[in-house]
Amino acid sequence: MVMLLKCSICNRISATGRDHIDCMEKVRMRLENEDLKKKAVEALGPDVKLGKELMALLEHMRKNDAD
Ligand SMILES: [Zn+2]
Repeated sequence: MVMLLKCSICNRISATGRDHIDCMEKVRMRLENEDLKKKAVEALGPDVKLGKELMALLEHMRKNDAD
């Protein structure tokens, strides 16, 4: 019996028995994009209220420094 090996990404039969190189590349790029998006959200601050509180805290610290 011949085992049909499939690419785990696209679920299509793979001649090499491994995941297709282009499929792996697509997954890698998608992960990279998601990672970039996550980093952007983290940099911007997902919570606007938290950002305001942080700004207020920084302002407070700056005032204390001036004294
Ligand atoms: Zn594939």
